[in-house]
Amino acid sequence: MNILALSLDQLTHLLEANHGKGRFHARALYREIFKNANPDLFSAPEFAASPNLARDLRKNICLEPGRITKVFQDKDLTKFITRLSDGLDIESVIVPMNRYNTLCVSSQVGCRMGCAFCETGGMGLKRNLTVCEITGQLYNARHILKKQIKNIVFMGMGEPFDNFESVMAAVQIMNEQKGFDIALRHMTISTAGVVPGIRKLAAMNLPGIRLAVSINAPDNPTRSKLMPVNNAWPLEKLKQTLAAFPLPRKGTFLLEYILIKGMNDSDAHADQLANFIHPLPVRLNLIPCNPVPGLAHESPSDEEMNRFSQKLVEKNIFVIRRWSKGRSVSAGCGQLGQQ
Ligand code: SF4
Repeated sequence: MNILALSLDQLTHLLEANHGKGRFHARALYREIFKNANPDLFSAPEFAASPNLARDLRKNICLEPGRITKVFQDKDLTKFITRLSDGLDIESVIVPMNRYNTLCVSSQVGCRMGCAFCETGGMGLKRNLTVCEITGQLYNARHILKKQIKNIVFMGMGEPFDNFESVMAAVQIMNEQKGFDIALRHMTISTAGVVPGIRKLAAMNLPGIRLAVSINAPDNPTRSKLMPVNNAWPLEKLKQTLAAFPLPRKGTFLLEYILIKGMNDSDAHADQLANFIHPLPVRLNLIPCNPVPGLAHESPSDEEMNRFSQKLVEKNIFVIRRWSKGRSVSAGCGQLGQQ
């Protein structure tokens, strides 16, 4: 059993059921592995008096975060590839923020959403990641690459709500105070607009977890062209679902809008986008599209970005302009999957 797939409660139950021990030893194991990255899982003082227990556990519990096969660096941004046990690769990106780093994790190998601007979408879906393949990315970033990670964003390869159960189990493990200890308010789940997934997350009522939605077009025909998911859940349905989402007081949604020259960047698009947003509490990330081999989409100029952004600001939309990081190592938005 890979311990990276177990919540503290599950580990406690496992020790109770199989070894007649409980939370005391489970906490010790969790601390040694998740916090201290001690490769000798059972050398904690709590196991000194129980050598037989340590021996039995060693047979049943392992730590397998996946092997990092490549690391790419673009200034202070890092992208790393993890080889999974079946030989497939996934990509994760560590993005430097002011004092800490944000880890962008993958939730699937490939993706079946087929967004037109996205390299991962072009791969199709190979498979869902298991819980430990998701938490393993955090283990590797923190303990193998030695990066201080404070934020997690599910914006890597895949649509997180297409792998809902494993993603939420990973969120619980990453959040565990005795372990990785990432606060829910420092975790963001980003969806292409999978309405049933948004509803399921809403029903869980997890305090503070952030929801991001890729919008990318303010009208259904353009959005359906860019994001086929819009055919199943068009903008009206999406807006209705967001309006019903239980945000905390002063909470906001993060909307992402990838600007593509000549496709979704006109003044009329900005006006329609402002109408879509109103009255939802939103922070809007504007991102210039990244070049993806084989895809004809062109990035807008800085001037065009500024003009689009200004139009929205005039309508009281909170806009954050993202100048794409990591282009040279294909770690930018929509580029994962190129290696
Ligand atoms: S943008 Fe996200 S949801 Fe769309 S194809 Fe790419 S990985 Fe999938």
